[in-house]
Amino acid sequence: MPRVYLRTYGCQMNERDSEQVAQMFVERGFTITEESEDADVILLNTCSVRDQAEQKALGNMRHLGKHRRHRPNLVYGFMGCMAQSRGQDLIKDVPHLDLVAGTQKYHRVVDHVEEIIRKKEAAQMDDLRFPIVDIDEEEESQNTISSHVDKNFQISEFVSIMQGCNMKCSFCIVPYTRGGERARPIQDIVDECQRLVDSGVREVTLLGQIVNLYGRHEFPKVDGKSPFVQLLEAVHEVDGLERIRFTSPHPIGYKEDVIHAFSYLPKLVDHVHFPMQSGSDRILKKMRRPYKAQRFIDICDQMKAVRPNIAISTDIIVGFPGETEEDYLMTKAAVEHVQFDQAFIFRYSPRKDTPAAEMEDQLPERVKEERNQDLLKLVNEIVGRKNEEHVGTIQQVLCEGPSRYNKERLSGRTGTNRIVIFDGDAERMAGKLFDVKITESTGYTLYGDPVLSD
Ligand code: SF4
Repeated sequence: MPRVYLRTYGCQMNERDSEQVAQMFVERGFTITEESEDADVILLNTCSVRDQAEQKALGNMRHLGKHRRHRPNLVYGFMGCMAQSRGQDLIKDVPHLDLVAGTQKYHRVVDHVEEIIRKKEAAQMDDLRFPIVDIDEEEESQNTISSHVDKNFQISEFVSIMQGCNMKCSFCIVPYTRGGERARPIQDIVDECQRLVDSGVREVTLLGQIVNLYGRHEFPKVDGKSPFVQLLEAVHEVDGLERIRFTSPHPIGYKEDVIHAFSYLPKLVDHVHFPMQSGSDRILKKMRRPYKAQRFIDICDQMKAVRPNIAISTDIIVGFPGETEEDYLMTKAAVEHVQFDQAFIFRYSPRKDTPAAEMEDQLPERVKEERNQDLLKLVNEIVGRKNEEHVGTIQQVLCEGPSRYNKERLSGRTGTNRIVIFDGDAERMAGKLFDVKITESTGYTLYGDPVLSD
């Protein structure tokens, strides 16, 4: 039985794609291995958002090439955004690479791998390597992907509701690698959620590059509600589903109906991941993010008015081309105002083929790093303080099973997306919602004792 080693870089969308590809391999009789030394097939699902992520994946692929010494028929492949954007160049750069699969070709990866294995075994080495990088066949891809969702027991799952993005932020490669926005029909998504719940899932995260603009080109508003809110309402009806998350929304399209949905859909958790990117209007404009910082802050305030306990996390880029000290201080002020519960801070790095990479006013690395560290310090203070305030409170936790780092203990998440570690019986508690009294906080993780009734 051939073994597949599949490593994922980047965002949740990539995680989700990798899960689907892994599932397709399993259905064809492959096994998934955690050890690259054991593998017959090595696939890296890559990310293009930052140069560092690309370099990491390339470095790893070169390093993994050593296994060929003992396994000459080993198959190597790149999938994901870097595969999509670099295509043929990768084949030239990495001599042992057999396969390059773009973001719309996941459904064909297993076929190609099987063919390569067959050819390698038959020693038909001529013309063996081929890139598959174009992004057509969208419909086929989407249909195939959505039919591969039956999985083994999992408590929390991602559900892809749309592909692509039309926004063209000047720093982002996604619109070029994942194409324009395409939404799945509501009923398809609801059916997938129901199947997941039937297999034991209790929480779904609806995934899209620009999730709250779901279906804006395909489906009409109904009673003033956007297709996204119609979808939230439909998924909310799925029996047995306890929690709904979504990621990532854009301030454009974060209208009254989305905010209002949090007042009457209790399965929507007390958390939203809401990328701000910058607190300076001038920089937002350069980023081609068509909103003002005050609009972003107003949405956060409105969310807190509807759900006082809501946690808001965000993405922020520091050191964008032309960012002055004054611009940076505006970002810092916005962070102070919103008091994010978590913030992922990125030092700007130019992405090939994006407009921002061509901007002349690139900042020195030293300045980017100083702002990165300064903002990180502020965010850590806010997060640490907020988590500390949880000590002594009782939080509702969805148990996800044994902790990743200590199998003796259990791990779960609050609705606000905080990780909680506690003692208990995985067999009995995994997949269940229950109360945990928080006894300790260590920065980003909470510890506690379950409050169990008989
Ligand atoms: S909204 Fe902007 S950052 Fe997000 S995927 Fe689209 S182009 Fe990229």
